[in-house]
Amino acid sequence: MHIDDTGPDTPERTSAMLDCNAAMRMLWDFLDGHLAAADDAALRAHMDKCSHCFPHAQFGELLLKAVAEQRRAPESTASVRDGVLARLALEGYEAP
Ligand SMILES: [Zn+2]
Repeated sequence: MHIDDTGPDTPERTSAMLDCNAAMRMLWDFLDGHLAAADDAALRAHMDKCSHCFPHAQFGELLLKAVAEQRRAPESTASVRDGVLARLALEGYEAP
């Protein structure tokens, strides 16, 4: 009897296309610029096509920008966390 060890066809399980969970795990490294070039390209390709992940990427960029701005403000007595949360609230995001 023939044994089929390739399994059923699952078109979504291609190595070229990340799934959303994998993309989300890579997002922070991506935003920090820590991803290897191949991973960076794969994540960009996913973001390009995936309407689910794209808002997360936008949020991440916004968050990193807020953190960077907060660190550039030595006069500020507020904590980085409070400053970042305040800025995100301005942009319409709820505090976690
Ligand atoms: Zn996705």
